[in-house]
Amino acid sequence: MKFGGTSVADAERLARAARRIVAKREEGHDVVAVLSARGRTTDALIREAQEISPEPDPREMDMLLSTGERQSCALCAMVINDLGHRAISLTGSQAGIVTDTSHTKARIVDVRADRIEDALRQGHIVLVAGFQGVSTARDVTTLGRGGSDTTAVALAAAVGADVCEIYTDVDGVFSADPRIVPDARLLPVVSFEEVLEMAASGAGVLQLRSVEYARNHGVRIHCRSSFHDEPGTVVVAEQETVVENPLITAVTHSTEEARVTLKGVPDTPGVAGRITTALAQANVNVDMIIQNEPVSEGQRADMSFTVPRTDLADARRALEPLATEHGVEIATDEAMGKVSIVGAGMRTHPGVAAQVFATLGREDINIEMISTSPIKISCVIRGDKVPTAVRALHAAFALSGEGTIRQERPFGEFH
Ligand code: ADP
Ligand code: ASP
Ligand code: MG
Repeated sequence: MKFGGTSVADAERLARAARRIVAKREEGHDVVAVLSARGRTTDALIREAQEISPEPDPREMDMLLSTGERQSCALCAMVINDLGHRAISLTGSQAGIVTDTSHTKARIVDVRADRIEDALRQGHIVLVAGFQGVSTARDVTTLGRGGSDTTAVALAAAVGADVCEIYTDVDGVFSADPRIVPDARLLPVVSFEEVLEMAASGAGVLQLRSVEYARNHGVRIHCRSSFHDEPGTVVVAEQETVVENPLITAVTHSTEEARVTLKGVPDTPGVAGRITTALAQANVNVDMIIQNEPVSEGQRADMSFTVPRTDLADARRALEPLATEHGVEIATDEAMGKVSIVGAGMRTHPGVAAQVFATLGREDINIEMISTSPIKISCVIRGDKVPTAVRALHAAFALSGEGTIRQERPFGEFH
């Protein structure tokens, strides 16, 4: 069971999460619960660091950020003990979560769950601080924003859990962010493939790595509300979702994009490789790339790509030596956004891209970059146009509660 920040934000909510954990234990299950930092604690810690230091040391940043989830676990253990059960809280390190050394966005490389298993055997409810681990160099690391989801999935895999339940502040995975599209539809069942594309294109409800990890290790994810008992969303293999896939499943968005443009890149073989290698070495995740070929031979090209806004400073630092060497100018734009449509049915339907572009055109929204996969179309647009774009696409593909035709499968063992 994983509880997100909003679900443990104040004393009452923390107590509600604790009661839910205890209820599960009383049904006869062994329970490992992963908690996030309370409310906006992580944001507050980041702000504190930035007030102190313009570019905080990443190792120390992780020491700082990891404290948020520890607080939640210790407090929750107190409540559970008061409810007459035995709980033990563990840091990521104590729980055996081993990561690589890339501070603030570390990857889990191993989970040594023997301490958790011992505690379960002794009848404890085990509470694990999400979003953190210990690196192979024995430093505390964090797993990137939203990383508690990945902690939960990795632990579920390590202990062979029946299911990984992600309790959050919405009822499950929707056809769009319900905060932007109030009549978005709850998806009772969604495939790993679709949820991977959704997470990759900005649907923050599940961290991308948690979905990758779940698919790779065969973990069942059940995403549901921490506020009531409705069944929420189950993530399953594509064959299990529906007899006939709907054309489009969801519209997703991100307002966290930045664009980097390299002006005057020499038009010679190998340059693009050097640029992207420099970015990869700096651990910067490049999303869309566009290169404008020069009109005549011997001229220089322009190359643009998008990166998460939080990676912009790293990207600039990584590119500066190359830019100086080749006389390239680096221009950046921090106000970019991205809107995407995702759907397994797209594979076999031509004309979806045309409908996307026409819809955005009708809203007078300029598309700056485009990328596609077999089940996704993404457009980079101005950040301030994102809500309008999401609502227009959601309406154009009739995704709201009433309009969609989708055969639903029963939840089976999930309720
Ligand atoms: P938690 O703190 O529980 O991890 P998050 O804020 O990380 O919660 O994720 C839940 C939020 O994700 C919701 O409040 C919602 O605004 C947002 N969200 C974005 N896209 C979607 C979507 N397609 N379905 C559900 N929620 C979404
Ligand atoms: N507290 C961390 C964050 O805000 C991790 C999480 O909530 O999953 O990103
Ligand atoms: Mg989250």
